Amino acid sequence: MTLPTPLTEPLCTLLDALLPPSCLACGAPASPDDFCGRCAESVEAAPTGTVACWAYGGAVADAIRACKFRPDATLADALGRRWVARLQSGACAPLPTVDGIAFVPAHWRRRLARGFDLPAVLARHLAAMARLPVVDALGARRVAPPLSAGADRALRAVAVAGRFALRNDVGARRLLLVDDVRTTGATLGEAARVLREAGAEVQEAALAVVP
Ligand SMILES: [Zn+2]
Repeated sequence: MTLPTPLTEPLCTLLDALLPPSCLACGAPASPDDFCGRCAESVEAAPTGTVACWAYGGAVADAIRACKFRPDATLADALGRRWVARLQSGACAPLPTVDGIAFVPAHWRRRLARGFDLPAVLARHLAAMARLPVVDALGARRVAPPLSAGADRALRAVAVAGRFALRNDVGARRLLLVDDVRTTGATLGEAARVLREAGAEVQEAALAVVP
């Protein structure tokens, strides 16, 4: 049955309130915005001193893949809230002093297909926590090619070269640039390069980093 559009969102909110919270990765009962006990066994913290929420792998990888490829906007918000909670509890290094939160954008076709952009959702949660603006500075010129987790640094660097373009002027602002996963750092580095060339001072952060 297809619900009339105006009813869908309130109904989802109502169902969220009525249903018990479920694990970010597998859907089993769990604390709100957290992993169940079984999935938590495969969750590792990010390296000490980074803003990142987790090391990429295990249930963290399952949750991020499900969020992007199912796709699941509710899960994207839950991941954002979880990152904020871990930052506020001191489980990750504190956010650096910046003037705004930028994000690594997906190509518009991908955003249209998913209905959201996970890095943009994460940026919104960090910005709300820090009372900073979200800086929508970059556009993706082309769709990211599918790269296997084993794709090496050189291959990734070639794949991302020239992928991003400046959409809005950033001036000399200090920005935190957010992505969902940092693999070799090629994508974040390429997006940061465009912002730096436009005059910004850029620091990079990801929800999960490949150790
Ligand atoms: Zn689970």
